[in-house]
Amino acid sequence: MNGNERTAAEPLRLLAVHAHPDDEASKGAAMMASYAAAGVEVMVATCTGGERGDIQNPALLGAPHPSRDMGGARRLEMANAANILGISQQWLGFTDSGLPEGDPLPELPANCFALKPLEIAAAPLVRLVRRFRPHVIISYDENGGYPHPDHIMAHKITVEAFNAAGDPDLYPGTGEAWEPSKLYYDLAFNPQRFRALHFALEEAGLTSPYAERLAAWLETDSEGHSMPVSKHPTTTQIDCGDYFEKRDDALRAHATQVDPDGFFFAVSPAMQRKVWPWEDYSLISSRVPTALPESDLFAGLR
Ligand SMILES: [Zn+2]
Repeated sequence: MNGNERTAAEPLRLLAVHAHPDDEASKGAAMMASYAAAGVEVMVATCTGGERGDIQNPALLGAPHPSRDMGGARRLEMANAANILGISQQWLGFTDSGLPEGDPLPELPANCFALKPLEIAAAPLVRLVRRFRPHVIISYDENGGYPHPDHIMAHKITVEAFNAAGDPDLYPGTGEAWEPSKLYYDLAFNPQRFRALHFALEEAGLTSPYAERLAAWLETDSEGHSMPVSKHPTTTQIDCGDYFEKRDDALRAHATQVDPDGFFFAVSPAMQRKVWPWEDYSLISSRVPTALPESDLFAGLR
């Protein structure tokens, strides 16, 4: 089956694939809340349990539950965030690879998500796609949005599932084939957005936390390297400014991972609505006809 021919009574479905619990809140949360409020069935697939995350919120350093059982604490946080956004969520069941740091970089821990062979890592997602039957799938680009090994693996399994789930000869035993119609990459770190917010803050006489980030994007170092910016153009902007408060609430629900006084909350939702009320996506593949630019991820499917 495929999602390209839809009966009028059938709801539209959106699946967003994320590496860790909290990624869904920092990338696409307002978009998902707005579609859920409009009657779209929205699901997040979370690849790993986030077991190797550190406590990022100074107020929770040493708190007993996350200190002893980070995975368990994050399951509770994830349930709260999904509730706030009005979406459903499934775990794919892999173990967090951690962000390797140091010089030389340490080896990834045995059995972690990023070390799994592609067919093993993609199988639970193919099964979920065949069960949930999404029309639209969203994930990160080749760089993972930022170069965390779990984010890059999340990208790989999403592309694999988008291409394979509709072929009944592939991934036998994981359900009836279903071909999703559209694949998007998330552009949450779109430099144009940060630039617009930066100048709006300066104009309002406020301190911008983005100056350093913008400078890093604009400049290249002595060897010609620059910050990775997605090579994929913005094709699709979703107007979801009315849901920025819900997005921020979902972020704060991931209490161990988010400093409530940090970067993400530097600009008020009201100012963001005025300057950049969108979340930005790049259409990578479509099996239905559509015209760019789009203002709806389901363009061509309604
Ligand atoms: Zn992550």
